[in-house]
Amino acid sequence: MARAAGQGGVAAEETPAPSGRTRPRTVVVVGGGMAGLVAARTLLQRGLRVVVLERSDRFGGTVDSRTLGGFRLDSGAESFSTRSATVPALAGELGLGDRIVAPDATGAWVQLPGADLRAAAQPLPNSGILGIPADPSDPAISAILGRAGSLRAALDRVLPVGPLATRPRVSLGELVRSRMGEDVLTRLVAPVAGGVFSADPDDLDVDSVAPGLRSTMGRLGSLGAAAGALRQAAPAGAAVGGLVGGIAQLRDALVRRLREDGADLRTNEHVGGLARSGDGWTVTTEHSGLTRRLPADAVLVATEGRGAVDLLAPALPALAEERPDPVPGVALVTLIVDVPELDARPRGTGVLVARGVAGVTAKALTHATAKWAWLRDEAGPGSHVIRLSFGRAGDEPTAVGLATPDDDLFRHALADASTLLGVPIGEADVLDWDVVRWAGALPHASVGHRDRVARIRALVAEQSASLAVTGGWLAGTGLVAVIDDARARADALADALAGSDRTHPM
Ligand SMILES: Cc1cc2nc3c(=O)[nH]c(=O)nc-3n(C[C@H](O)[C@H](O)[C@H](O)COP(=O)(O)OP(=O)(O)OC[C@H]3O[C@@H](n4cnc5c(N)ncnc54)[C@H](O)[C@@H]3O)c2cc1C
Repeated sequence: MARAAGQGGVAAEETPAPSGRTRPRTVVVVGGGMAGLVAARTLLQRGLRVVVLERSDRFGGTVDSRTLGGFRLDSGAESFSTRSATVPALAGELGLGDRIVAPDATGAWVQLPGADLRAAAQPLPNSGILGIPADPSDPAISAILGRAGSLRAALDRVLPVGPLATRPRVSLGELVRSRMGEDVLTRLVAPVAGGVFSADPDDLDVDSVAPGLRSTMGRLGSLGAAAGALRQAAPAGAAVGGLVGGIAQLRDALVRRLREDGADLRTNEHVGGLARSGDGWTVTTEHSGLTRRLPADAVLVATEGRGAVDLLAPALPALAEERPDPVPGVALVTLIVDVPELDARPRGTGVLVARGVAGVTAKALTHATAKWAWLRDEAGPGSHVIRLSFGRAGDEPTAVGLATPDDDLFRHALADASTLLGVPIGEADVLDWDVVRWAGALPHASVGHRDRVARIRALVAEQSASLAVTGGWLAGTGLVAVIDDARARADALADALAGSDRTHPM
């Protein structure tokens, strides 16, 4: 493809390659997060020519790393769900299979409100899913729920299942509250859901965040039995896995492999427009103040949701109604500290914080050197990496979170880490620290999500077989969902292009 030289602000055209029967079709992938990169890999494997256009100066989106205190640390995603073989398989294909590890078996804790915060911290049992206990009479669960809460939760065993198993549009919050009561919701499920999705359970579509839970409940007769069955159906061992050296290596290896295999990967390319052009598309990008137009046989949009709708709405006006609401952001404060008392891993791999814990503003703390043995070995005795996240769904704009200045976040992080870990940590103990902010980066599956996704998919399919959309805003939060969907969409796009080649040979 020839590229016309352009001056600042002047439109430059990339001319299409001469047409001929053997010319590989070109797919432009908009967005170089994990969804875009994985889709690009599938498209290349299907024999297509691929151009990835990424707005920022790096690939990976919410998968990234940076060096702090001499450690290479993940800045966003730091683990993956082991409920499917998706991530291990991709890691294997990329030569990272021998780096897969399980986190420390000590598990996480939950910090509940209470006059004595130390007594109100409890290990979080891991027998169910998303904090829903498989057996509410388990003494570890009763210790969290209290007597009244446990008795209410036990009603789940005897209450008739009723329409909750089949009715459309049920939130995780409604399901848990109806079956097991408010205490299970606020003391177990809300802290876990807040940590994973940055959302309130009443806003989460249960069928999206826990697929199969309601139908299993219908079959087995109780929510606890369903949660236990789904947990058991997952592979044995920890619910999450990681990579020695960090998850961002997946991004690094993908980018390397894509380049080796001939993908055209471009950063600092802000895609501002998509327009139909003959059988294909014209993609307009801004690069260093210069507008460029690229021809494409097909386009796969892998940006976040609001950006995707804005890009597609001119071609697909009906999509504007499906523009997702803004999503909350999080600020992550990482502290590298020299505190030998933390060698004992006093709160396991970390702490999820229930709402209403006096004096604590963080919503979760990861004790990274407790969670990952490779990082512990790298740090050596006494040195610790702690990551705290700030910013809850539904917070007042003035609450501590994304917009809070770095120094204030640092002070909150020190105070919260001391309280949550039960070990005093002072400024003098801190070897290094930083703040990473993710604005609008955690889309969540709100109630009715599956119907909305189906409507969006149908609108896109109606418009053109040479257009596809993927990404966490449609697939759901987490690498497994994002990777699976990106592959499926890329495969469907490749099928459609192969089909049109047969119908209209070039
Ligand atoms: C703090 C944090 C922690 C997380 N932890 C975990 C975890 O431990 N495990 C897990 O499984 N998941 C985790 N996730 C979720 C996981 O990272 C995401 O679900 C997944 O990476 C989303 O990938 P994506 O490609 O859909 O979106 P993104 O990562 O948002 O990528 C979208 C890309 O599109 C680019 N873009 C946007 N608009 C344009 C445009 N107009 N032109 C060109 N490019 C554009 C963006 O710059 C970005 O690079 C975490 C997320 C966050 C924020």
